[in-house]
Amino acid sequence: MKNPFTGKSVWFITGSQHLYGEETLKEVAKDAQKIADGLSASDQVPVQVISKGVVTTSQEILKVVREANQDDSCVGIALWMHTFSPAKMWIAGLQEMAKPFVHFHTQFYREIPWDSIDMDYMNLHQSAHGGREFGHIVSRMRINRHVIAGYWQEEAVQKEFGDWARVAVGFTEAKTMKVARFGDNMRTVAVTDGDKVTAQQKFGMVVDGYGIMDLVDVMNGVSEREIDTVIAEYEQLYEIEDACRKGQKKHDTLREEARVELALRRFLDAGGYTAFTTTFEDLHGMKQLPGLAVQRLMADGYGFGGEGDWKTSAMTHIMKVIGYGTGKGTSFMEDYTYHFTADGGRVLGAHMLEVCPSIAKGKVKISVQPLGIGGKSDPARMIFTAEEGEALNASLIDIGDRFRLVVNEVVSVTPDAALPHLPVASVLWDPKPNLSVGAAAWIYTGAAHHSVYSQSVSSAQLEMLASMWDIEMILIDDSTSLRSLQNELRWNDVSFR
Ligand code: MN
Repeated sequence: MKNPFTGKSVWFITGSQHLYGEETLKEVAKDAQKIADGLSASDQVPVQVISKGVVTTSQEILKVVREANQDDSCVGIALWMHTFSPAKMWIAGLQEMAKPFVHFHTQFYREIPWDSIDMDYMNLHQSAHGGREFGHIVSRMRINRHVIAGYWQEEAVQKEFGDWARVAVGFTEAKTMKVARFGDNMRTVAVTDGDKVTAQQKFGMVVDGYGIMDLVDVMNGVSEREIDTVIAEYEQLYEIEDACRKGQKKHDTLREEARVELALRRFLDAGGYTAFTTTFEDLHGMKQLPGLAVQRLMADGYGFGGEGDWKTSAMTHIMKVIGYGTGKGTSFMEDYTYHFTADGGRVLGAHMLEVCPSIAKGKVKISVQPLGIGGKSDPARMIFTAEEGEALNASLIDIGDRFRLVVNEVVSVTPDAALPHLPVASVLWDPKPNLSVGAAAWIYTGAAHHSVYSQSVSSAQLEMLASMWDIEMILIDDSTSLRSLQNELRWNDVSFR
C-alpha cells in the first residue's frame, strides 16, 4: 500500500477577535504558526499541519471553511481559540463545515509566569475561557467533533492529535473507496448482508458485484513468467513446505495461488478497488478457494471479508489506512473456538484460510492443506501464530435502521502449547473484561462472528471514526457491565432513531 498520508494535511485555524488590537493579533498569528509547525514536526503526527492564520470575523471563518471543503489534500481542520473568539461568528462556518474537525484546546505557554504575569499576558493567553465559548456553540449546534485538551508540546497530546489525523485520513479514504464482491454473500447468512445504498450514503464507499468468471478471465491472461516472479518472492519471504517446492507434487497448487494473486491485484487495481470479498459458494471456473492470494493482498493493505462480507472488508482496509506505518498489524478475523478455563477462558481466532500476516509473530510458513468446504482442490495458505499484546476486534453491522460499530478490547496471548495440527493462521486472545462478559456483551449488540482484528488502531480512534460518521459505537472493555450495556443499547435505539 502506498503511504496514505503523503500529501495530506490538517488545516490549523486560530480563532480570535478585533478587540485586542493589531499587535496582539500579530502575536496570536506567530504563536499559531509555531504550534502548527511543532505538530507537523512531531513523529506522532503523520500529516502536515498547515497554519491558515487567525480569523476574527464570520466572513473570514466562512471563507476558510469553504476553502478547506474544496481542498482534496485537507483531511480535517484543527481549531484553536488562542484568545476569546465570540462564538456567534463561528455559526455560518460551522454550518458549512464538511471536513471532520478537532477542537485543539491548548495554550501557547505551558505554565503561568508567576513573577511577571499581568493583564496583558492574561488577555493574550485566554484559551481557558475562549475554548469554552467555542465549545458551547458546537455543542448547541449538535456537531460531532473531537476535543483534545492539553499542552501542545506534550508527547501524549501530540499522539492524540496524530491519532485523530490518522482517523481523518481513514474517513477521507472511505468517502471514495470501492469494494469488489466476487459472488454474493454466503446464502442464508444474515449478518454479512446489509444495505449497500445506505452504506454509500453514510460512508461513501461503493460496493460493486462481479461474477467469479470476471476474475477467471483475468487469471487466464497471467503468464508463467509473472508466476515465476511471485514464486521467487514467496521463496524469499516465507518458509515453504517441501512438498510445495519446485519439482515437488504440490508445487502446481502454489503456482495456481500465485496466478490468483496476480489476477486479483490486476483486477482490483484496474477498477480502483481497495477491498474485496470472495465466497466458497461461488467458485465456478476456479480450482480452489483463494487463500494465500487473499493473505498476500491483505498484507498489502487491501481489505478483505470472507463469505461476501463487504462491511468487514471495507473496515479492514480503512483500519489498515489508519494504522499505516505503526509497525503493527490488522487482519480480517473470526471468533472460531473457545477455551473455557477456570481463570476466565480465551478465544481462538482464525478463518478457513484468510488471516493477514501483518499480525504474525516470527516466520510465516506456506503449506497446502485440505479444505473441507467448497468442494474444490486443496489451497495453499500461510500458517502462523500472532504477536501478543493489546489488540481489539471491531465489527461494523447493519441492524436494520442504522449501522452500529462494536469494538471489544482484547489481550492476545501465547497459546498454552503448540498447535501442530492446525492448518491455518490463528490468534489466541483474552477478551475484556473477561470471556463471559465480553462474549455475552458482543452477542447482545448483535455484532458479527466476523471482525477486524487490530493492534495498530485503538478503540479511541474507532470512537473518533464513529463520531465522524455519526454512527453508534459500543465499546466492550474493562469497565463493561452487562446491565449498563443493555441499557446503553436501549437508549441508543432512541438516540440514533
Ligand atoms: Mn467466515
